[in-house]
Amino acid sequence: MSVAGAEPVLQVAIDSKWYRSRGAEPVEAVRNLAFGIAAGEIVCLIGPSGAGKTTTLRILLGLDTAFEGRVSGAEQAGIVFQEPRLLPWRSVEHNVRLGLPRVRRSRDLDALFARLGLTPWRSSYPKALSLGMQRRVALARALAAGPLVLVLDEPFVSLDDAAAAELRGLVVDTVDETGMSVLMVTHNVAEAIGIADRLLLVSRRPASLIADVALDRPRQARDRSWAETTRATLAARYPGIIAL
Ligand code: ADP
Ligand code: MG
Repeated sequence: MSVAGAEPVLQVAIDSKWYRSRGAEPVEAVRNLAFGIAAGEIVCLIGPSGAGKTTTLRILLGLDTAFEGRVSGAEQAGIVFQEPRLLPWRSVEHNVRLGLPRVRRSRDLDALFARLGLTPWRSSYPKALSLGMQRRVALARALAAGPLVLVLDEPFVSLDDAAAAELRGLVVDTVDETGMSVLMVTHNVAEAIGIADRLLLVSRRPASLIADVALDRPRQARDRSWAETTRATLAARYPGIIAL
């Protein structure tokens, strides 16, 4: 779906972002971080803990406007935070519908629930679900409105490998089916190498762009040895960011 030279679906240029709170030293969280996401592209953002990655996502989603720079495309994005953030007193169905603008809240979501394996759980409450299933509900809520870009902040943390792989597969299938783009923050370099078209590597705080790495091999053609070679090459080149 991606067309060379096409307008990016999401674009951000953060010159600087400072947190200033009363009685505390100001903290510079982001500096000179600019990138765009093309249609149908999966981009993974990788960097040290505390670097400013979540701050960057909040800015590009328009949730934080106190920064120097520019953003465009935020209104087309759906978001999955690290925690599922579901309303415990609402059913799965209701939680997912909260992802829709009010006028479209009665829209037919049968296909979405089916695709995510949530059909049997529509009338359940979040506390009856495992963390993996709650993450699926959060994913369904983000997908309900048909976003052009899905933004994910470490969405598979604390899931076992099988549950994480299953959710990852759902995200990739959705990209293949819809031509949607994905921007995902992850600590899991192997996961990123498995699915991303591009890796954005950022420095420790303040987060600055260190490298924008294209992974040209088609996803279906990626095998273990290619992944290991890619990882070793990146680790040698960016030792502070990619562990060996
Ligand atoms: P990451 O997601 O890369 O781990 P964050 O974007 O959450 O990093 O945080 C970057 C830095 O900004 C950290 O030092 C964090 O403590 C600080 N920070 C985050 N949110 C706030 C806030 N609301 N007020 C002050 N400092 C904050
Ligand atoms: Mg974070």
